[in-house]
Amino acid sequence: MSLSALIARKTRTHLPTIAMISEHGDPAADIGREEAGGQNVYVRQVGEALAELGYRVDMFTRQIDPEQPVLVQHTPRCRTIRLKAGPLHAIPRDELFAWMGEFVDSFRQFQRQEGQRYSLIHSHYWMSGWAAMQLKADQKAQLVHTYHSLGAIKYGSVDTIPQIARTRLAVERQILEQVHCVVATSPQEQDQLRALVSRRGTIEVIPCGTDLRNFRVIPKQEARRQLGLPLSEPIILYVGRFDPRKGIETLVRACSTLQNHARLMIVGGSDPEKADGLERKRIEAIVEEIGLREQTQFVGQVGHDRLPLYYAAADVCVVPSHYEPFGLVAIEAMACGTPVIASAVGGLVSTVVPEITGLLAPPRDVPAFRAAIDRVLGNRQWAQQMGEQGSLWVGEHFNWPRVATQLDSLYRSLSGSGKILELPQTSTASFL
Ligand code: UDP
Repeated sequence: MSLSALIARKTRTHLPTIAMISEHGDPAADIGREEAGGQNVYVRQVGEALAELGYRVDMFTRQIDPEQPVLVQHTPRCRTIRLKAGPLHAIPRDELFAWMGEFVDSFRQFQRQEGQRYSLIHSHYWMSGWAAMQLKADQKAQLVHTYHSLGAIKYGSVDTIPQIARTRLAVERQILEQVHCVVATSPQEQDQLRALVSRRGTIEVIPCGTDLRNFRVIPKQEARRQLGLPLSEPIILYVGRFDPRKGIETLVRACSTLQNHARLMIVGGSDPEKADGLERKRIEAIVEEIGLREQTQFVGQVGHDRLPLYYAAADVCVVPSHYEPFGLVAIEAMACGTPVIASAVGGLVSTVVPEITGLLAPPRDVPAFRAAIDRVLGNRQWAQQMGEQGSLWVGEHFNWPRVATQLDSLYRSLSGSGKILELPQTSTASFL
C-alpha cells in the first residue's frame, strides 16, 4: 500500500460506499482478450485505488455472457457487479440505450437484496450518466460523471450519424447541467465541454493515471529478446482498438514512404468477427494496397502483463487518433521509456510534451506524421533522451493513487456541501 493510502486510512474513520457505473466498460474484463479499452482500465484502476484509500467500491456493468460470474471481488473492498440488462451477449453501443431502463431496475433490485445505499455515484459514459440520474432521487446521492467520449465530437468525425445521436447529445447536456460535478480528464476536454455541451454545471479536471509498477522502463534489447524480435531493426508501434477515430490509416499511410526502413507493429483488436473487425479488415486492405504487408505485423490483443515489453521494444509509439479525451496508451508508452508521436488533439496535447517526450502532429496529416517518425528514427540519441524524459514526466504526474487522492478530495468537498439537487425524473422513452 502506498504511503498516501496509509495516511489516508489512518486519518479517516468512515468513508462511504461508492457506486461506480460503467454500463459497457466492464472493469473485470480481460483487457488483453476482449473488446475493451481505456474506460475499462480507468474504472478498474480508480476503483481499486479508491478502495485502498478506505472506500468500499461497487462497480456496476452489464452482463454480456451467461458464463460470466455476476460478482467479481477484485480486492477486499472493491468488486464488480454484472447486472442483467437485455440479452446476454454483446450489443453495439449505439443500440444499448434501449436496455438502460432494465439496467436501472436491476441496480435497484441488487440494492434491495444487499440492503445497500450509495451516497455517491460516479458514472462513466453517457448511458451510465443517464442511469445515475434515474437513481439519484431514491439514493439521495451525490453524482459525479466522467464522459470518456463526447457525442458532440465523435459525430463530427464520422461519416454516418447513428439514430441514437439526438438522444445522446441531449443526455450529455443534461448530465453536465444536473450532476454535482463532471470530471474532465484534460483541460482540452473541459474546453470542449464548455464549447460544445453547456456553459452550465461544474467541471473539475483530474487527469488519468497509469500503473507505474507495471508500465516501467525495460532495456530495449531485453524486451526484444523476450518477444523474439530482431535486435536492430527500427520498430514503430501502435497500441489500441480498431476504430476509425483511432486514425490507424494515417499511420500506415505515413509508414509507406519513410526514409528509414522500419517494422510497423499494430497491437490490439479482437477477432475479425467482433465489432472492430470491419476496421481491422479495412486497415489490412490499405496495408496490402500500399505495399506495406511485409513490414507490418498485426499482433492482435495483448494483455497489460505483456504490453510493457512491446512498448519497451519499440523505437517510437504512434497515437494518430482523430479525437482522444485522454489517451492512456501515450502515457503507458512514455512510462516504459518510449518516445510518443501523437495527434495534437484532446488530452494528448497535455500528456505529450513536444520535443521533450515526443512530438505532436495535426490529426489525419500523413506527411506530418511521416516527417515526425523520420525525425525520431533518424536520431537515436535524441529519441533515447526523449524516452528517459517521458518516463520521468509520467512518473511524476500520472499515476492511479494520485488520481484517487484527487477524486477523494472532490468527493469529500461534495459531501461537505450537503448539496442535493432535485432532478426531474426522466424515462428512456422521453428521449426517443
Ligand atoms: N490495450 C490493451 N491491449 C491491447 C490494446 C489496448 O491492454 O491489445 C489497452 C491499453 O493498454 C490502454 C487501453 O487499452 O490501457 C486503451 O486506452 P486508451 O485511452 O488509449 O484508448 P480508448 O480505448 O479509451 O479509446
